[in-house]
Amino acid sequence: MSLNSDPDCIFCKIVAGGIPCHQLYEDDLVLAFLDVGPLSEGHALVIPKSHAVELADADQQAVERCAAVAKQLGPVIVEQTGAAGWNLLQNNGSAAGQEVGHVHFHIIPRRAGDGLGYRWNAGAIDHDDAGQLATKIASSVNP
Ligand code: AMP
Ligand code: ZN
Repeated sequence: MSLNSDPDCIFCKIVAGGIPCHQLYEDDLVLAFLDVGPLSEGHALVIPKSHAVELADADQQAVERCAAVAKQLGPVIVEQTGAAGWNLLQNNGSAAGQEVGHVHFHIIPRRAGDGLGYRWNAGAIDHDDAGQLATKIASSVNP
């Protein structure tokens, strides 16, 4: 498979070796390295090597490989850092907090009381509205 690359993309530069990283894993499709602005010790990023801005645009095989790498890497990072759990986070679009426009999965090690986390202001579902919305979404999903 040929890799897409954007010369202005910082993660493509890391993939190409033009910018150094603390590498954790590499194969033909995927690279994993430590985040330079860690939310906690061991905070890591798993990326497809081929450039795509958002998850929906990324190569399917590379996304599946990213998931497999994250599945294996998360527990290893927890083990090596003495963390107690981990979050897998993937931001799409600036409204969702995406700052680097190259698909990436955050592995964020967690410890009790670490103060990290989303404001999880849960609402109450309206079942009539939800039923209509679910029908619309379900009829448009085409994996
Ligand atoms: P996001 O807000 O989801 O786009 O997250 C981008 C992440 O990339 C942030 O956590 C940054 O700290 C991280 N980051 C940016 N540049 C680098 C770099 N050169 N090496 C490692 N991590 C980086
Ligand atoms: Zn890129």
